[in-house]
Amino acid sequence: MASFYEHIAFSSLLGLGYGLGATFGLEFTPVQGALAGYLAAFGGMLPDLDSPNGKPGRELFALTGALAPLVSIGHVLRVTGLEPKTETVMLLIVAMYFFFRYGVAWLVHKFSVHRGMFHSFPAMAIVAEAVFLLYPSDSRSVQMLMAGAIACGFFSHLLLDEIYAIQWQGVIPKFKKSFGTAMKFTSNKAGPTILTYGLLAATTFILLQDIGFVSASPIEQPVAGEEVLPPDDFAPVDARDEVIAPDPVTRSVAVPREELDDAPLFQ
Ligand SMILES: [Zn+2]
Repeated sequence: MASFYEHIAFSSLLGLGYGLGATFGLEFTPVQGALAGYLAAFGGMLPDLDSPNGKPGRELFALTGALAPLVSIGHVLRVTGLEPKTETVMLLIVAMYFFFRYGVAWLVHKFSVHRGMFHSFPAMAIVAEAVFLLYPSDSRSVQMLMAGAIACGFFSHLLLDEIYAIQWQGVIPKFKKSFGTAMKFTSNKAGPTILTYGLLAATTFILLQDIGFVSASPIEQPVAGEEVLPPDDFAPVDARDEVIAPDPVTRSVAVPREELDDAPLFQ
C-alpha cells in the first residue's frame, strides 16, 4: 500500500501535467488549469477517506470540509431559497464545514472498511459526476475539465495501490493479498456494492437530467430559433418579482451586477 505522501506526490505531479495540458493544450485559462491541477492532486487522496481516523484521513476530512462548502454553496442557496448575503454565506459555510468534517467523517468511520467500495471504479465515477454537477460554471467544458481532473487523481490512487501490491522477486512478480482490492468494480460484500451502485445510478440520472438527456417532466418543444426559458422558480430570489426581462437572452442575466457584489461566489 502506498503511503499518504506517495499518493499526494503522484497525484500532484499528475495534476501539474493536467493543469499545464489544459492551459496550454486546450486553451482553458491558467486559473482554470491551476484549479483542475489541484483537484487532480486532491482526487489522489480521496479513496483513503475510508479510514477517517488515521492522520491522513483526518487531514482529508478537514480539506474536504473546507472545499466541499465552497463548491456546493451556490446549489445549497438555490435549493434553500436563502438570500446570498455575506452573513448567510459565511454561516452556511461554517455549518457545512462541521457537517463534512465531523458528521460525514463519523458516518464513514461507522460504516466503511478500508479498501471497501471507496477504492473502486464506481466510486470514482460518483466523485467525477458530483464534481461535474456541483462545479459552479455555466460552461460544460469547464465542468468536464474539473470532473476529469478529480477522476484522474482518483484513478492514480487506485493504480498506485495496485502497483504497491506487486512485489518483485527478480523478474517474477509476487502478488500481495491486497492485490485487486483497489481497482475493482464490486466488493465481496453485497451491501456496500449495492449502495455504491445505487448512488452511482442516482448521480448519473441527475447528471443526465442536468445535461438535458432525460427529462423528469414532458418538455415543450421549442419553436425553431427561439430560446427556451428556465421556469420562474429557477430565477434568483431577488430577481423574481422585480425584473421584467425584455427578451430571453437578457433575462438569464437579469440580476444587476451590483446586487451580486455581496456574494462573490455567484458572479
Ligand atoms: Zn488507498
